[in-house]
Amino acid sequence: MKSRKILDQGAFRDFSYDCQQTISDSRWALTGEAGRFADPLYSPGGDRIALHNTLITDCILTNDPRQLRTKTRVYEVLMRALYQAYVPSYAVSYEVLGDQECFTVKYAWELAVYFTFFVFPFINELFTDLRFAASYLREFAKLGELNRSLQQYITDYYRWKKLRYDPPNGPQFFDFMELGGLRSTERLFYQVGLTAVEGATVLAQESVKLTEFARYIVAHIGAAVSI
Ligand SMILES: Cc1cc2nc3c(=O)[nH]c(=O)nc-3n(C[C@H](O)[C@H](O)[C@H](O)COP(=O)(O)OP(=O)(O)OC[C@H]3O[C@@H](n4cnc5c(N)ncnc54)[C@H](O)[C@@H]3O)c2cc1C
Repeated sequence: MKSRKILDQGAFRDFSYDCQQTISDSRWALTGEAGRFADPLYSPGGDRIALHNTLITDCILTNDPRQLRTKTRVYEVLMRALYQAYVPSYAVSYEVLGDQECFTVKYAWELAVYFTFFVFPFINELFTDLRFAASYLREFAKLGELNRSLQQYITDYYRWKKLRYDPPNGPQFFDFMELGGLRSTERLFYQVGLTAVEGATVLAQESVKLTEFARYIVAHIGAAVSI
């Protein structure tokens, strides 16, 4: 709106925040923005509230103090890990959203991670199953490193590309499901009713597939740069 005069503007800079503790065996908990806030994009707010309220409700229903102590300890680690997993998407690679190709690989990767590590355990009610938590957190920690590196790699490619190429003239139509790594994780929606052991097995298999998907993205970028 070039001919319009700007009357006022406002923005939050560095609005995101973490929290030292959001749940306690003294029977208090913080949920939603009272605890942690990452970013409005991709709707993480609603997701995190759903996840955290599930864990909080489970603690409310736990009467045994020893069990409650264990649960609050594990759930705090879990909630912090789930929050921190989002951060590289915003802090490292936000700028690539303006480029269709970079956005596509970034978003497809993030969706694949989301389906595997957020949706799959949630629809199987595994987040409140302590037998599942250890294997989940182990796989999640490995993924964290991979995710941060990949997000940086995509950002580096975007910066390289921006200096050399003009944006395309028209829209380029693209089906996200053409990416095999993402298509495969979508099938997890139909794996419901799994036990903790079955869920852990599926998660380990899917982690291998996610690593393959990351390799695919790296190969795609490598090929584009070396043409
Ligand atoms: C610009 C923006 C866009 C977003 N888009 C999305 C999205 O698309 N999808 C998504 O899932 N999430 C989104 N979010 C995040 C989502 O809005 C929040 O995660 C969610 O609203 C947090 O809910 P809440 O109940 O914790 O806090 P709030 O919704 O902030 O509710 C807190 C309430 O407490 C009241 N309050 C505060 N202090 C007091 C007091 N002392 N006494 C009484 N009442 C008090 C406030 O008035 C408020 O009504 C977005 C956030 C922002 C800022």
